[in-house]
Amino acid sequence: MSDANTAPVLIAGAGPVGMTTALALHARGVPATILEADSADRDRSGSRAIYVHGTTLHTLERVHPGLGERMVEEGLVWPTRHTKWRGKDVFERTYDNPGGKGTFPHFTSLPQERTEDFMHEALAEAGIEIHWDAAVETVESGPEGVRVVTSDGREWETPYLVGADGGGSTVRKEIGAQFEGDQSKNSFIIADVDEVEEDPLPLERLFHYDDPKVGGRNVMLVPFTGGWRLDIQCLEGDDPDELCSDENMREFTRRIMGERYADNVTWVSSYKFLQVMADRFVDEHRRVLLAGEAAHLLAPFGARGMNSGVADADEAASAIAVAYRAREDAVARDEVELYAARREKAAEYNLDAAGQALEYLQGENPATVLRKEAAASLADYFEVAGEYLDDAPYGPHDAPPIVSTGNY
Ligand SMILES: Cc1cc2nc3c(=O)[nH]c(=O)nc-3n(C[C@H](O)[C@H](O)[C@H](O)COP(=O)(O)OP(=O)(O)OC[C@H]3O[C@@H](n4cnc5c(N)ncnc54)[C@H](O)[C@@H]3O)c2cc1C
Repeated sequence: MSDANTAPVLIAGAGPVGMTTALALHARGVPATILEADSADRDRSGSRAIYVHGTTLHTLERVHPGLGERMVEEGLVWPTRHTKWRGKDVFERTYDNPGGKGTFPHFTSLPQERTEDFMHEALAEAGIEIHWDAAVETVESGPEGVRVVTSDGREWETPYLVGADGGGSTVRKEIGAQFEGDQSKNSFIIADVDEVEEDPLPLERLFHYDDPKVGGRNVMLVPFTGGWRLDIQCLEGDDPDELCSDENMREFTRRIMGERYADNVTWVSSYKFLQVMADRFVDEHRRVLLAGEAAHLLAPFGARGMNSGVADADEAASAIAVAYRAREDAVARDEVELYAARREKAAEYNLDAAGQALEYLQGENPATVLRKEAAASLADYFEVAGEYLDDAPYGPHDAPPIVSTGNY
């Protein structure tokens, strides 16, 4: 291909992962262009990835100085962890300095839409273009590069393509990769509830096991800037569509959060979570790389979805930056293969961690059920028992051991 050494790297998808990939390539001096299926005036509702880990903030700040800072200014760091068991408090801890002493807090909480707004600002500052209404339809890779056709009828040639086009990824299908894994048994209802001005709830992350106010369902409440995320775990036999009706959600919200919040539900959705990853993250010619949800879908407990997607993006950009300038094809191939090896391992680790949280919440293992019950009965006497109940719904805390930057 004629322009292979100067043509921009193409990225399918202007979600958080595609935008981070573009910024991370730009930071490494590699030109990048984004092809996005949606129109520029699209609605990205639903708070989704509210929990942004500190390491993600560091990565974003590194690839575009000021981006991490803006997210920290906008985000909220809740100071209190609180857990209840069937109406009774079993654990509560408030931190004086919940974000820690580092340059960036351990985490921040803001709606994904706001994170994406800041990323759009960063792209504009970096002069990176998004081609809207340009869905990638076909991908043809060869030893020299990739030919892409988009829904607006245009043809593109690029030395490298990053498929960051989300869970239904066309790029993944076009390179013949397939998702493998399974799906949660339970459904979960997830709602966003606007904050009230008068008498707001204390800023705490609350997990309530078998909440008697809502028929013994597990409930989680997490604050973010401007509102709350309310998760309700369906029981066996529940019809999630029925539970999601306006009337039912109003009633659930009233019982869980109080009358003043009942009319503030702004978004509701129900999920069965997929726990899957692509059987390979790169094409046979080592010219197409999958990143984020195009490569893996995780249950959200432990907040590894967008966080691990940002790590994919940074590592994809790092591999491409070397491959893009390599004089020897074998070196370029190796870089891309190394990307696949590292991020496939990370995805396996993240899937396992999110899977442990899911398994715990679904309570199918009798040993887990017993451990929970025992912890609940001991929580009045031993703080460590309450702390176990507080911690377990989110799975292990660690990042995959093979990453050097501490990312997910
Ligand atoms: C309820 C819920 C809670 C969550 N909570 C968290 C959390 O606390 N922390 C966390 O880290 N993650 C969380 N996540 C996960 C997070 O939302 C996703 O991991 C993240 O959005 C994935 O980003 P992405 O860029 O890979 O994909 P997406 O956000 O899906 O973006 C893909 C983009 O590609 C575009 N596209 C699709 N097809 C094409 C095509 N053919 N050509 C071009 N463009 C295309 C789409 O329009 C879209 O813009 C949560 C998710 C859910 C549902």
